[in-house]
Amino acid sequence: MSTPNTERLFFALWPSAAARRGLVGIARRLPAGRRVRSANLHMTLAFLGDCDAGARVRAITAAQTLAVPPAFTLVLERTALWRRPGVALVAPRETPPELEALVGRLQAALAAHGIPLDKRPFRAHVTLARRASGEMPALRRPIEWPIEEFRLMASRLTAAGPEYRWIARWPLGRGGGVGAGGPL
Ligand code: ATP
Ligand code: MG
Repeated sequence: MSTPNTERLFFALWPSAAARRGLVGIARRLPAGRRVRSANLHMTLAFLGDCDAGARVRAITAAQTLAVPPAFTLVLERTALWRRPGVALVAPRETPPELEALVGRLQAALAAHGIPLDKRPFRAHVTLARRASGEMPALRRPIEWPIEEFRLMASRLTAAGPEYRWIARWPLGRGGGVGAGGPL
């Protein structure tokens, strides 16, 4: 829980309207669980946890100095259930190299700016529901999600569920143009 002087921060991808419709469509077909509100659906890239003002500035600086990979399309093709936490999710078949590069560079930049991260490896997924159980429905068609930017988000945990708001957004590179990180 955040103290008055800290914010709970994370970097994430927010879906396009079309990708969100696809995510909501599959979430509605889950047999059981507490669904994530549609406006809250996202992919976490890095979870920072409670940050004071100094850490927030360092996180923003880290993101600003990042050699971003080019924009890409993330294709979500499979559903799964992480049984123990009861998380129903959708995920790509394999994490695309652009996403690996984005997360890897973000982790390295945050570490270089003195922001400790969870040691757990990144696992690309969108949580659809918690306390989920039963057979996961298959996607009728893959969800194609154009990834053009990433965001620093703040999360406030309330009795009615988490409330997210974005603090800053950074575009990915434009096909090797300014800001692209070079070969992956
Ligand atoms: P709630 O905790 O109320 O269920 P939430 O998990 O969506 O809601 P947060 O706990 O603020 O909200 O987390 C924000 C995002 O960061 C979510 O995508 C969550 O899965 C992820 N996250 C939270 N804690 C960690 C962690 N320790 N390591 C990696 N990702 C985390
Ligand atoms: Mg949480």
